[in-house]
Amino acid sequence: MSTLFEKIIAGELPATVVHRDARVTAFLDIRPAAPVHILIVPNKVIPTADDLTDEDESLVGHMMLVARDLARQHGIAKSGYRLIVNCNPDSGQEVYHLHLHLLGGRPLGPLLQRTSA
Ligand code: 5GP
Repeated sequence: MSTLFEKIIAGELPATVVHRDARVTAFLDIRPAAPVHILIVPNKVIPTADDLTDEDESLVGHMMLVARDLARQHGIAKSGYRLIVNCNPDSGQEVYHLHLHLLGGRPLGPLLQRTSA
């Protein structure tokens, strides 16, 4: 069965695509957590960051460079942004197709709520 993101990449599910190339597709998150919230997704299915192999090294670098370019295009490179990859249940990963969240356009606050020890 295809992942949700595979269907978006294949054009079978609607999404606002902001970048597409041979290796990655980037589209707006359907439930944005910030004024700019873009998901950068490899075109091939890699379920989680834990499934990456040495062969994916250049793909992961490419995802970061696409994020850099999209941040510039969306005017948040200088104000700042956050890049997040969730992996497996404790992170709250919802979609098991690796993706990089690009978030910005407002102060994002602390990375995580601190819990008392
Ligand atoms: P995760 O929690 O797996 O790191 O993030 C999954 C993200 O995918 C969430 O921020 C969620 O809002 C987004 N998302 C889930 N379903 C869809 C969809 O059908 N279309 C788009 N564009 N984003 C989705």
